[in-house]
Amino acid sequence: MFQVKAYSKGQDAKAGEVIRLIPTNKQVASDVYVLPERKAIIDLSHPECTAVLPDTLLSLGIHWHDYRLLATHLHFDHIGNPLNMGKPILYTSAGEIEHYRTDTESAVWKDFPLAQEGKVADRFIAQERAGGVQLASLDALPDIKKRSVEGLLNEQSNGLYYAIMKGHSMAHAVFAYVVHGFTYLFYGDAAAYSVNPHISLNEQERITVREQLIAINKRKNGNFQTFAGHTNNPYDSMVSRF
Ligand SMILES: [Zn+2]
Repeated sequence: MFQVKAYSKGQDAKAGEVIRLIPTNKQVASDVYVLPERKAIIDLSHPECTAVLPDTLLSLGIHWHDYRLLATHLHFDHIGNPLNMGKPILYTSAGEIEHYRTDTESAVWKDFPLAQEGKVADRFIAQERAGGVQLASLDALPDIKKRSVEGLLNEQSNGLYYAIMKGHSMAHAVFAYVVHGFTYLFYGDAAAYSVNPHISLNEQERITVREQLIAINKRKNGNFQTFAGHTNNPYDSMVSRF
């Protein structure tokens, strides 16, 4: 159900600093990124994938009970089902949570046809309303520090950081994991503003994000690796590439 890839300082390696889990049976599902040293999991994919995530992690010897669950944004194909992980708290940006509170269905992208299959968006909303899943701000995690986009890209100290890149969602979080001068950047769907543009964001704001990402991808200094939110996706050219 997941193809597993491990990365260590940008190279495929057995014991990875970053474990990338690519869903193979659900096209709309996002990739899942596991950062063992930081005890963090970025995005939970589609609920059908979250269901088998614990077994996948166990088979890799990953003790996921200790991990924090982070979401780049609250679209249904990234938030999965935290209850499958026995972890009722899902951390994302304060702005994403605010959007969820004020316009819940838009925040989880409920009007996208694939969100209707299995009523996955509705199920998440119902679980959250019943108190089974809690949303919390990334700012509640002192070891995950907020930066500006420029600050994120220039951070040199070991650690996990995030910045807000609006466009695809209202307050999409982009994560940077810095390990001894090497930066892994997890930009989720931030490049995919044209797939689901939030019309309340002005066009220039959305274009700016895309230009920022293009500039990031051009950094060929060998100290940078970017990861998109999706590998196997019918919308791949829009979501993963820029
Ligand atoms: Zn999305």
